[in-house]
Amino acid sequence: MDKSIKQILISTTQIKQRVKQLGIQLSADYKDKNLVIICVLKGAIVFLADLLRALSIPVELDFVRLSSYGKSAESSGVVQIIQNITSDIQHKDVLIVEDIVDTGTTLSSLKEALLSQKPSSLKTCALLNKPARRVKSITIEYVGFEIPNCFVVGYGLDYNEKYRNLPYIAVSDIDF
Ligand code: 5GP
Repeated sequence: MDKSIKQILISTTQIKQRVKQLGIQLSADYKDKNLVIICVLKGAIVFLADLLRALSIPVELDFVRLSSYGKSAESSGVVQIIQNITSDIQHKDVLIVEDIVDTGTTLSSLKEALLSQKPSSLKTCALLNKPARRVKSITIEYVGFEIPNCFVVGYGLDYNEKYRNLPYIAVSDIDF
């Protein structure tokens, strides 16, 4: 294991099981709806790829990229859309797929921007929820795992663009 990885927090097996459950739940909840998944780049792509294959319903896919922590582990609090969706989401049932919700700043800005395009519904599926540092009050309808206040990497989540390829979620020992 890399020396800056302290411990495995969520194993590959645990992730697989939870993603399968989420896929079953989402397939039931969005049966007969016009589901559009909006994946938040880059961190959510690994989760998205597995979640998509756990769905048994038709789904449209789009991507959004937001300004993030950059090279630091601390959020600037200012969120900008760097790459916007290209689909028309008006009257569609939109599900945001996010890697992790921490302070909630990113998700709340994204929700506000998407709501202005008048979807029929707008919900969120986040792989990880870190409620300890929340500053914005937001609802996350589907959560993979609730985690303690630590900095995690792996399964799409990075630190300085490293560790996204780890097949598990690990606690990093970087200053946070
Ligand atoms: P928020 O706006 O909720 O504070 O932050 C959301 C974004 O911060 C996530 O999409 C992710 O990019 C980043 N982030 C928050 N906590 C962590 C963490 O523990 N590890 C990693 N790698 N990124 C995080």
